Amino acid sequence: MSGAEQKFIDEAFAEEWVVPLGPNVDGFEEDLRRFLTEGDPASEGKQVAALSAGTAAIHLALVLLGVGKDDEVMCQSFTFSASANPIVYQGATPVFVDSEPESWNMDPALLDEAIADRIAKTGRKPKAIIAVDLYGMPARLDEICAVGRKWAIPVVEDAAEALGSVYKGHKCGTYGDFGILSFNGNKMITTSGGGALVCPDVEAKKRAVFFATQAREPLPYYQHKHIGFNYRLSNISAGIGRGQMTVLEKYIAHHRRLAALYEELFAAVPGVTYHSNPTPDSDSNYWLSTIEIDPATGCSPDDLRLHFAALNVETRLLWKPMHLQPVYADAPAYVNGVSEHLFGRGLCIPSGPWVTEEDVRMIVRETAYLISSQSASLT
Ligand SMILES: *Cc1c(COP(=O)(O)O)cnc(C)c1O
Repeated sequence: MSGAEQKFIDEAFAEEWVVPLGPNVDGFEEDLRRFLTEGDPASEGKQVAALSAGTAAIHLALVLLGVGKDDEVMCQSFTFSASANPIVYQGATPVFVDSEPESWNMDPALLDEAIADRIAKTGRKPKAIIAVDLYGMPARLDEICAVGRKWAIPVVEDAAEALGSVYKGHKCGTYGDFGILSFNGNKMITTSGGGALVCPDVEAKKRAVFFATQAREPLPYYQHKHIGFNYRLSNISAGIGRGQMTVLEKYIAHHRRLAALYEELFAAVPGVTYHSNPTPDSDSNYWLSTIEIDPATGCSPDDLRLHFAALNVETRLLWKPMHLQPVYADAPAYVNGVSEHLFGRGLCIPSGPWVTEEDVRMIVRETAYLISSQSASLT
């Protein structure tokens, strides 16, 4: 917390705006809209709807795109389950697409092939494409959107982890027909729990808010023609969000500073590759810092995780791809080996606002120490 959050919460209490609408909801949406679109003519007109979770935002995007029973939705396999689960909420089937090795995100060429194959196999076009900017690293969003345009299939950009990341001069979350953000406790900024849907225009935002508030028709009595949801963000949570927006740039700068130091120091550690911007087109927010460890070192990601756990330092294995998840065993998948390769070798290392440069030096030192002691025991 920055300290600025409390002021907005106090205002909400003072004015009794303790409901899922109010000045903080409007203010937070406006802060986000400005942050995402200011100075970018390509995203002019986009609107932001504040919601109860990133998962709710993905679900609403699919509702607005008309995804329903028996539809298929193309989804990045290398991601958190919340990218894919809303497809199933709608009674549709996810079709998983593997990653390319540079950004670790959806491979546009494989996506194109997979769509052609789905149409050949089912006689129907997939209804949407969900691409993810994993760990804050932008996907090849222009190529993915071009594939979407080629087949006339809308794209949803899951930028839950990528608030502040930029790809080819445009903020992540503004690519595609809809973008989604998350303010869960672990994300770049938090509202304790929350999310947002980035909508193409005022009309789409109106529809999103309509479905997020139980799809109540504008009549004096309660009339419903659609199934709605209770997905709006609380005015209290939005107050936390407004406070967090005052430190967002500072947090992003901190994550990027740590990333630059990790990259510099890991360059001297054989067998370890720090995952950094593959080309100048990408400007990751480095929400999480991640490394790949060559198995030839004799050191697995889990060896390293346990080593750090003993030092009271939390690290995590990379996301397990969705096509390997028991719950998605029956879903079609177009796989090229990249996400399985990464899952076997990768580790997320500390990168939050409290991590210091000294911490980074210790983490690199301990990684180098464990690797050299493991490879010594190999020989
Ligand atoms: C966190 C996350 C979500 C879901 O957001 P919530 O706010 O936790 O519902 C979706 N996709 C990805 C990639 C995420 O990391």
